[in-house]
Amino acid sequence: MMTRRDTEANSKSAAPVNSVSPLFRRIALIGFGLIGGSIARAARAQGIVGEIVTTARTEKTRSRVNELKVVDSVVEGNAAAVKDADLVILCIPVGACSAVAREIAPHLAPGAIVSDVGSVKGAVVREMAPYLPAGVHFVPAHPVAGTEHSGPDSGFAELFMNRWCILTPPEGADPDAVERLRAFWAALGAKVEIMTPDHHDLVLAITSHLPHLIAYTIVGTADELAQVTESEVIKFSAGGFRDFTRIAASDPTMWRDVFLSNKEAVLEMLGTFNEDLSKLTRAIRRGDGEALFEHFTRTRAIRRGIVETGQDSAAPDFGRPHAHLAKRRD
Ligand code: NAP
Repeated sequence: MMTRRDTEANSKSAAPVNSVSPLFRRIALIGFGLIGGSIARAARAQGIVGEIVTTARTEKTRSRVNELKVVDSVVEGNAAAVKDADLVILCIPVGACSAVAREIAPHLAPGAIVSDVGSVKGAVVREMAPYLPAGVHFVPAHPVAGTEHSGPDSGFAELFMNRWCILTPPEGADPDAVERLRAFWAALGAKVEIMTPDHHDLVLAITSHLPHLIAYTIVGTADELAQVTESEVIKFSAGGFRDFTRIAASDPTMWRDVFLSNKEAVLEMLGTFNEDLSKLTRAIRRGDGEALFEHFTRTRAIRRGIVETGQDSAAPDFGRPHAHLAKRRD
């Protein structure tokens, strides 16, 4: 697998590194953070797009994106970026998608595919779809890959390698458009699955959103403890706490929007989680070792299943190839 340093080296020129005929002539990325920056780097490294245009809101970010030399041009305005693009991907927080869809709608080229990368799909589909004109193909997507880092420097070309990307095309979506976007994500290294937005939101509520909520909670709880000092929490963090702190370092804007947008599914999973937590609490209070042992044996098997399917490594963190650069997560 390519390292981030290799990727940056390949990205020094805006020209594609191979001569495969491009899947898209011109792609517009709205937002150049972790996900937008990774798409740009991966698409460039694979040589699957002609031209890449991105937006960045501040002069500071635009100047940094120019220095990175990953894209052909970086502009301030979303409308200017989407002009003549045959693929437009919103790589911005979920809560910003509706306003941006309204802004770009009159400027989209007929036949263009409009997509996003939001971690919630139902709300995004409901809020974006009404603004998109007829003749434009809306195919929402969620690459289930990420790290706790954000901003223009955080992306890397191999982020999507062997990770899932879920497409949630609306009913009646153009099959050719869905197939083109599937081919795009496959070329970035992802395994692609198609599901409904509601099912996506339920699955992600338990596999990603609830774990983040728990991490945010436990790190906050530790911070407020009176009996254990902050230096002890940091000193002994290898006991499990450290992994929670990494997840709890994730971007506050992104995660605020995720919980506001996926409220129903998260509350449903939280209800079930609270019941299960009560069962374990009762087992501890009653000294029911058998119940605890049975539960931990079941969860251990789930972990082994994840390792077997290649979604994580059994190696300790310090042995992982990119541990010093970024920790991948959903
Ligand atoms: P990020 O690194 O913070 O980048 C977000 C980008 O969006 C920045 O370029 C930011 O520009 C731009 N932006 C924010 N608000 C905007 C607005 N109103 N109009 C235009 N641009 C705006 O975040 P990210 O991790 O790439 O996340 C982007 C999307 O990917 C989110 O919807 C998230 O749910 C989804 N996602 C994230 C992960 C993950 O692990 N991080 C994984 C899968 C999917 P400025 O620099 O100017 O603020």
